[in-house]
Amino acid sequence: MSIVIRPGEPEYDALRSGFNLAVEHRPELIVDATCAADVVAAVRLASDRGVPVGVLNTGHGPSVPADGAVLIRTGRMSTVDVDPARRVARVEGGASWRAVIEAAAPHGLAPLNGTSPHVGAVGYTLGGGVGLLARRFGFAADHVRWFDVVTADGAHRRVSAEENPDLFWAMRGGGGNFGVVTAMEIDLFAVPGVLGGELCFGPEVFEDVLHGYARWAAEVPDTMASSVLLLDYPDDPAMPPELRGRHITHVRLAYSGDNRAEGHRLVERLRRLGPRVVDTVRELPYTEIGSIHHEPVDVPVPAFDRNIMLRDFDQDAAATLAKHAGPGAPYLVELRAWGGALSRPAAVPNAIGRRDAAFSLLAISDPDVANRTRRDALLTAMRPYATGATFPNFSGVEDTSPDAVSLAYHPDDFARLRRIKAATDPDNVFRINFNVPPEGR
Ligand SMILES: Cc1cc2nc3c(=O)[nH]c(=O)nc-3n(C[C@H](O)[C@H](O)[C@H](O)COP(=O)(O)OP(=O)(O)OC[C@H]3O[C@@H](n4cnc5c(N)ncnc54)[C@H](O)[C@@H]3O)c2cc1C
Repeated sequence: MSIVIRPGEPEYDALRSGFNLAVEHRPELIVDATCAADVVAAVRLASDRGVPVGVLNTGHGPSVPADGAVLIRTGRMSTVDVDPARRVARVEGGASWRAVIEAAAPHGLAPLNGTSPHVGAVGYTLGGGVGLLARRFGFAADHVRWFDVVTADGAHRRVSAEENPDLFWAMRGGGGNFGVVTAMEIDLFAVPGVLGGELCFGPEVFEDVLHGYARWAAEVPDTMASSVLLLDYPDDPAMPPELRGRHITHVRLAYSGDNRAEGHRLVERLRRLGPRVVDTVRELPYTEIGSIHHEPVDVPVPAFDRNIMLRDFDQDAAATLAKHAGPGAPYLVELRAWGGALSRPAAVPNAIGRRDAAFSLLAISDPDVANRTRRDALLTAMRPYATGATFPNFSGVEDTSPDAVSLAYHPDDFARLRRIKAATDPDNVFRINFNVPPEGR
């Protein structure tokens, strides 16, 4: 089978599409890469033709259409090798977190994956990466040892703190702007399992739960990860009866500390907030970590994501959120606790500078313009509690302008990213992403 696919060929439509359908790609060519040499050839081909390069793995993180581009699919490069003695994994450019979790678990080790194991490990890490162990250990990008990357000049190079340190700083947080990663080495952590799951509350107690969660989250240790999902379920017979047609507050938890008695006590405090329509909190092997958020994987849908970072989530903020995201809100809201190690600098500095948030607030709408307008009204109402920053991994297709992208970075860091971009990709070949334009352009 050819790895180069052109418009009109049978595999073209399947290969130009992924999980989130908010963007439709019409690339000039698709390269279904099987190894680093294929990626090198694809980048050189794009350079010869004077067209941009896009990367598509799972399609969980769409930004701009790859129209007229060479679109590199990475999903066939998915090998993961674990070195338990050094507690690291070598992860190929198209591996999902699921593959890393499953390779690490037999050694009692875990990566800093996100909530969905179906997300690509490299795409997630380039954008920072905040998952269920992040308050304890930091951003996924803080724990990269090296990348192997094909840069705009078509060279395949090692990027680490010792080799190409500027690029290493930029790639950890700067997204897909600096090249195509063929492999990375990341740290693993001794976390064989968590006390985790979700507590779901009905609309009668929704406001009490938000206020109670705000008090609870301000006091828990870094070993407790938590988030709240507010979702109005359709009145659809396919829905479980306890959720069908109801507004449900899902409090999702993962306690990874050794003091399990403490973990159970913290969960009990939340249980006392009201009757639960679903309660799945239990001891989980790390391989079941994806069951906590159980995000959809089956039917691709267009999703319009927007996020802001919050300084705090106090009683005022809880009341404002309750006013806008209660029953009838035509969007999904996720409030996620940050803080802990996410507030501390990385051992080897990187482009993630804005570490002052206590929570992220992500709101996701369907394509309907009226619904997106209401989603934006919620975010505007929450701005008094915001830091002014955004998180790249939670940004969506409406926030791809340089001004919107710059909000994720300290101004000095964004200027440095632009200088490194100008030095390594002056023609902005890698612009099918949340683009950092080269300095001077
Ligand atoms: C259900 C769901 C759950 C999520 N959970 C979390 C979470 O818990 N924490 C969090 O931080 N984020 C989370 N995300 C966001 C996710 O990390 C980003 O959307 C990420 O960019 C997805 O990467 P991907 O490769 O899977 O997606 P894709 O859409 O295939 O790729 C997105 C972009 O990543 C870059 N990229 C991917 N692979 C490479 C590569 N090999 N080389 C260079 N660039 C590359 C490219 O710029 C590409 O356009 C979640 C998203 C979804 C939809």
